[in-house]
Amino acid sequence: MTYRGRFAPSPTGSLHFGSLVAALGSWLRARAAGGAWLVRIEDIDPAREVAGAGETIVATLAAFGLRPDEPVRRQSEGRDRYDAAVARLEAAGHAYPCACSRSDLAPFGGHHPARCVAPAPAGRHAAMRLRVPAGPVAFEDGVQGRVTQDVAAVVGDFVIRRADGWPAYQLAVVVDDAAQAISEVVRGADLLDSTPRQIVLQRLLGLPSPAWMHLPLVLDADGRKLGKSDLARPVRADDPLPALRAALRFLGQDVPRRSGVPALLSAATARFDPACIPRGTPAAPGRDAAQREVS
Ligand code: GLU
Repeated sequence: MTYRGRFAPSPTGSLHFGSLVAALGSWLRARAAGGAWLVRIEDIDPAREVAGAGETIVATLAAFGLRPDEPVRRQSEGRDRYDAAVARLEAAGHAYPCACSRSDLAPFGGHHPARCVAPAPAGRHAAMRLRVPAGPVAFEDGVQGRVTQDVAAVVGDFVIRRADGWPAYQLAVVVDDAAQAISEVVRGADLLDSTPRQIVLQRLLGLPSPAWMHLPLVLDADGRKLGKSDLARPVRADDPLPALRAALRFLGQDVPRRSGVPALLSAATARFDPACIPRGTPAAPGRDAAQREVS
């Protein structure tokens, strides 16, 4: 099977150092495997979308030498495929409409108790929820090792289509990774706990599961997910080399001495060693270097 990887940003802002790390990690892995690398803009949440961010991200990736092998796909452009997947799940008894509000679910710690609290919805403005089968879901992650989660116990029945009609991230990502024949998902470890939900969906939809690789997260100096720090600032498309070198270092890779983007990337591809990717967030040097080089 030929390797097919992807980078799937949500257009909620410009490319920052954390997303550059995910883009570069997935690109290197695909290139080192002699496979294809795709970019998919996950624009299914209009309320969080920043106008033009998708185009900016694609242009910034190009400035970093990261060009997709196929036309960029936008999730908003083919919503029927998500509705079709939801309809299949509902017809098979794996999904049900739900009108429970956040406050309905508050007494259950925010988890759906698998039997709706709110009355059955009469109109079309209801969310659709997946009926999650009991039992643990396990997978082998290329960086994080074995991961196990009992999705029914930890997450509960989760939303696959929102009441506003847009597909939930978990459903859309599974439908598109299968439609684009992605053989391995390489992304940030912030999505590690989404993967068991995605495996449940793949099983119920009869779709293959790709391999998984969750890269260490880029954290703020205070150890939190990127907020408004230097690291959260957009990477500089007009001066890509410093951030590219910092991203390679962050991924535990050798940083070849090359002065142009294409030469640096091809040398980095030749030396790419996934076994060197750190599991947890690299210690301060990686962060400091990134901070210094990004800002
Ligand atoms: N669109 C998601 C995000 O930007 C990532 C999806 C994925 O890589 O699976 O957080």
